[in-house]
Amino acid sequence: MDKIKMTTPLVEMDGDEMTRILWKMIKDELLLPFIDLKTEYYDLGLEYRNETDDKVTFDSAYATQKYGVAVKCATITPNAARMTEYNLKQMWKSPNGTIRAILDGTVFRTPIIVKGIEPCVKNWKKPITIARHAYGDVYKASEMKIPGAGKAELVFTAEDGSETRELIHEFKSEGIIQGMHNINNSIESFARSCFNYAIDTKQTLWFATKDTISKKYDHTFKDIFQEIFDAEYKTRFDELGIEYFYTLIDDAVARVMKSEGGYIWACKNYDGDVMSDMISSAFGSLAMMTSVLVSPDGKYEYEAAHGTVQRHYYKHLNGEETSTNSVATIYAWTGALRKRGELDNIPDLMSFADKLEEATIKTIESGEMTKDIALITSLTDVKVLNSEEFIKAIRRNLEEIL
Ligand code: NAP
Ligand code: MG
Repeated sequence: MDKIKMTTPLVEMDGDEMTRILWKMIKDELLLPFIDLKTEYYDLGLEYRNETDDKVTFDSAYATQKYGVAVKCATITPNAARMTEYNLKQMWKSPNGTIRAILDGTVFRTPIIVKGIEPCVKNWKKPITIARHAYGDVYKASEMKIPGAGKAELVFTAEDGSETRELIHEFKSEGIIQGMHNINNSIESFARSCFNYAIDTKQTLWFATKDTISKKYDHTFKDIFQEIFDAEYKTRFDELGIEYFYTLIDDAVARVMKSEGGYIWACKNYDGDVMSDMISSAFGSLAMMTSVLVSPDGKYEYEAAHGTVQRHYYKHLNGEETSTNSVATIYAWTGALRKRGELDNIPDLMSFADKLEEATIKTIESGEMTKDIALITSLTDVKVLNSEEFIKAIRRNLEEIL
């Protein structure tokens, strides 16, 4: 069989620890034998980030702007312990944060559904995708402890020096305050990314905030979404038979529980953080979750939703066997290859991505899986495989399908 040819390179962002080991296995077993893989390689492993003063992370994001599609392995976000472990020059920022800031994107997370791993919510039949705004609010807030009686105010000083004030509270005793912000440009990007993704995946889009209580802050989110929808997207949504609808966050939560899934739920930053953990654990596991960053001008970065699986990596270094689930990382590759195929009009590449996903699902549904999902499956005849055996089992099924 001839290998599938590619025309434009994928931006390949290698990563750390156990996922770096899986990365290589996936390429060797599931991609290189079938595709004339064209990538522009960036090593985002912590050692090389440190060596390049993190320049490699920035370069990989610029390359994503240039080529349009990237695939990223999980990476370490350094903390104090990593400073000593890797002898770092500096506590480098989270690569995901850096890439997100450059691409100005929204993160979409979708559970991968297989028979034998039933969602806790029994009426959920189709995946629910969470779209999380990745800028501002409580993540960029200033906070203060109030020591005692006094007046707290919000003050905005315009460039001309004029001031606008809003009373927060007249304190009679100790308390706390918080000031947070967002930027209309960022909310507009968030809205466009969501509308584009809904069109791309032909799914209805929900958006919810607490605008009845937050009449300026949350209401601005609601208004921006509605204005952009009406002006730029309504016609295309109608043509595709999909919907955009806004509701209050508490109403959304109640509806989500009673729904059968199959839509995108756009959330403000904090809501998205919380709800994506709820959705992923209710559907099974973080290792069965796809994640893609989409910029408002249509650049895509695919990754796994989980981290570098550090605990498994240390076992691996000790020569012990690991049973690490590679599904989310495989889906990062299939997502990126399918998108590349779509943009470059290479149907073979798109169909290869479909078949690799099919082989992955088939492997699990036939009872061959890693330990994390063996623990939660309702299948009875289960064979627990190690990291490498699982990828080899997928290869067998893939060859059968091809
Ligand atoms: P993690 O890598 O997601 O792993 C946490 C635990 O979840 C693991 O110990 C394992 O549980 C289970 N798990 C996660 N993925 C799994 C998989 N594919 N297969 C089987 N089990 C899986 O989170 P972490 O250990 O807190 O973080 C490790 C490093 O990842 C940190 O340095 C963090 O900065 C980084 N991180 C990166 C990203 C990213 O690049 N997108 C995201 C999050 C975290 P058991 O140990 O019980 O088996
Ligand atoms: Mg979280």
